[in-house]
Amino acid sequence: MLLRHTPLEIKERKALTINPAKTCQPIGAMYAALGIHGCLPHSHGSQGCCAYHRSTLTRHYKEPISASTSSFTEGASVFGGQANMLQAINNIFSVYDPEVIAIHTTCLSETIGDDLPQIKKKALAEGKIPKGKEVISASTPSYAGSHVTGFSNMVKSMAQMAEPTGKKNGKVNIIPGWVEPADMEELKRLTALIGIKTILFPDTSGVLNGPLSGEYKMFPEGGTTVAELKSCGDSKGTLALGEWCSADAARELDSKLKVPCSVLDMPFGLMATDRFIDALRTIAGVTIPDEIANERGQLVDMISDMHQYLYGKKVALVGDPDQLIAMTEFLVSMDMKPIHIVTGTPGKKFEKRIKELTKDMGHEVNVKAKGDMFLLHQWIKNEPVDLIIGNTYCKYIARDEDIPYVRWGFPILDRQGHQYFPTVGYKGGLRLLEKILGVLQDRLDRDAPEEKFELVL
Ligand code: SF4
Repeated sequence: MLLRHTPLEIKERKALTINPAKTCQPIGAMYAALGIHGCLPHSHGSQGCCAYHRSTLTRHYKEPISASTSSFTEGASVFGGQANMLQAINNIFSVYDPEVIAIHTTCLSETIGDDLPQIKKKALAEGKIPKGKEVISASTPSYAGSHVTGFSNMVKSMAQMAEPTGKKNGKVNIIPGWVEPADMEELKRLTALIGIKTILFPDTSGVLNGPLSGEYKMFPEGGTTVAELKSCGDSKGTLALGEWCSADAARELDSKLKVPCSVLDMPFGLMATDRFIDALRTIAGVTIPDEIANERGQLVDMISDMHQYLYGKKVALVGDPDQLIAMTEFLVSMDMKPIHIVTGTPGKKFEKRIKELTKDMGHEVNVKAKGDMFLLHQWIKNEPVDLIIGNTYCKYIARDEDIPYVRWGFPILDRQGHQYFPTVGYKGGLRLLEKILGVLQDRLDRDAPEEKFELVL
């Protein structure tokens, strides 16, 4: 048993995290930046940070992740990284010629107190930023928040690229939050079916799930273009999916540029997708297309057919707040019981929302923001569950406790395909359900005595 030292007895811990349920802020900022077309993410700190962030994203998306670094050594660590940053901007535009450099800070540069907007001004004044090129930045100290906070901060910086012309563009901004490239594709498919013109940002589809063409491109075809980002201040509204990932950017556009915003849950599962589709339908002033109504019907059909395998099953969840909120609602709506829920991202609002969603479940729920996987394991030891849903790190608990397990969320380091198959929308709901039923029914088969080993389940 790899986690054999996890004790049953739970003690209050204030200053110790064991097996964190999060990664560091710049990883989120780097992922978001990859959703801008022609963007090179830049890590303002030491090479080690950048290597870690790139390798985590590479391991999850199974694609090479390009990013540059200010490459701090002792001098920059003591006297500040301005000189490194200015040199880096110069080198990056000369050598790689990106449309945008998206700079995020690290623990080190934040602790020194480097002021990125001031360094950008200096770079501009010194002519280091060529005409027509952009440099954006986000503050992402990893001793606060999580990868989700870093993602949100970088998306807010994208919103700040808006340059309203005063003439509406007839589009709706959609801020999808941290979802897979295939999810972004699915959101675009749904909005196109309803007949809405959108600016989706960030958009990693075509960047991190592109085809193998045999030709190397430093900057893949996909991503939100700079022109689209500049135009998002002329949109008629913004739909932000997820309070933690997307709301700050949407509120920035609302308060500064009067682009009205609505913040919805991420459209995972039946009810959250219903609200998303309803919001799109209302904006477009149309009835729901048959194709989408059929997809919904298929999901409802599968839920009703398979309800006998789902009913009353206890589930442990770990992941990021926006995803967990939608997943909890989905599970409760299918009469499952999500009883242990942990996110590594801070936010008391998360605990409150989960309590609301589970209040009629007929079972107490353990929920913790800024929690860790060690606590989740202890909860599971005290009250076992039938299923674990979460990222790759759950595999240790699943193995030790012999519990069926569905990989979902970030990071997934030991399986393939998640970047190609959406889990948002009704089609995504079918995929989630297929995965959940797959592991539950595999367990039934494994544990069935010979006389009850059924061909048809
Ligand atoms: S030093 Fe900070 S930014 Fe760098 S890898 Fe560690 S936690 Fe992340």
